[in-house]
Amino acid sequence: MRRSSLTSTSFIRSYNAASILRTMHEEGACTRTSLARTTKMSPATVSRIIGQLMGHGIVREESRIPSSAGRKPVLLRIDYAKLPIVGVELRRNPATILLSNLRGERLERRSCQLGTLESEGLISELAGCIDRLIRDSGLERAQVLGVGLAVSGVVDHEGGRVVRSLDLDWHDVPVAAVLGRKLGLPALVENDANAAALAELQFGRYSETTSFMYLKTETSVGAGIVLQGELLNGPGGMAGEIAHVPVIRGGHPCPCGQRGCLQTYLNVPDVLARYRSLTGEAVERETFFERALGGDPTARRLVDEAAEALAVASSFAGALLDVNLVVVGGVWGTFSPSFLQRVEERFQAVGDRTGLNKKVAVRGSSLGDDSDLMGAIGLVSDRWLNPYGSVPVAGRAGERRGMLLGARGRPLASARQDDLYLSRGETE
Ligand SMILES: [Zn+2]
Repeated sequence: MRRSSLTSTSFIRSYNAASILRTMHEEGACTRTSLARTTKMSPATVSRIIGQLMGHGIVREESRIPSSAGRKPVLLRIDYAKLPIVGVELRRNPATILLSNLRGERLERRSCQLGTLESEGLISELAGCIDRLIRDSGLERAQVLGVGLAVSGVVDHEGGRVVRSLDLDWHDVPVAAVLGRKLGLPALVENDANAAALAELQFGRYSETTSFMYLKTETSVGAGIVLQGELLNGPGGMAGEIAHVPVIRGGHPCPCGQRGCLQTYLNVPDVLARYRSLTGEAVERETFFERALGGDPTARRLVDEAAEALAVASSFAGALLDVNLVVVGGVWGTFSPSFLQRVEERFQAVGDRTGLNKKVAVRGSSLGDDSDLMGAIGLVSDRWLNPYGSVPVAGRAGERRGMLLGARGRPLASARQDDLYLSRGETE
């Protein structure tokens, strides 16, 4: 038997310690006996690992369960403050950093101005911001489970690379590896709409719905697709890149050269520019939506167009992916319940006419403006709770993911080792 590492960072990623922590996260309070039963480890191993976790302050004993037999098993709980996660909404100015934990609790947030243009320098600036946030929160870097990044653009999640981002002006930047090396922490990156979809699945109000499309709107448009509890990335990381799919025949011209793209109807600056050209009046976002709700005919017409475009996009998802729920992020998901209801009715009507015969729903994001950031947190918690190569613990995680599949349905046989959260070095 090897001794566990002295640092909490490698210890909590060790196979047995992580299995125990995952079980405790799924089950809530546990006893040593119940942990041994669920994880199939020996009682002696469980007691030893619990002792180490308590030594690191990650697990604490809570209370004794009254027992008729006179024995009083001790309840154990995770101290989530000792399992922090950092999430980043990575934009050039400003990036937002959130300190959270495995439960998605929002603990501390900070804006970070990233002035450097060149990618390596920008990642160094970001690493400095993250390090300061960790230190100012009274934590040590070694405690942090990982850093998740949500980026607008095409992302190769598996390879940890931003393939293309207009906002960052990046082409093929291995951001996860570079940031991970600078911080000495695992880092993961995902497209912002995909990350936001993951956040709805993990932390949102719709966590009981395992298949849905999350539609990011307002400034950049994109979809994150969750099917049967798994995020759909696509072989090129481009699943859900719906912004420039024409949804309105002969519709408004788009900078991409086509007409009727979804982006031109849901990108608020485009809508405000259209309002200005029709009325001669330049208004702010809030004023525009107030006027639409107040009955301004031009604003209402533009909102109607957006509803139509959204309904068509929802119908694509309903027909192609068999999803019954579309979650709308950004202002289009929050400004008016009757707007979403109109979209839902049109989506339902298409389904009824095409004989799909199912009940559909269109809802606003349950995480509001924090969807991307919570998605970045969700990247780390998802990987940590469902690591590649792990044997899923019994119970909900195993049932949901399938016993032969790793994170996001990837077969265990193809598990990569370089970004594993867990190693088997600690197993007995
Ligand atoms: Zn376009």
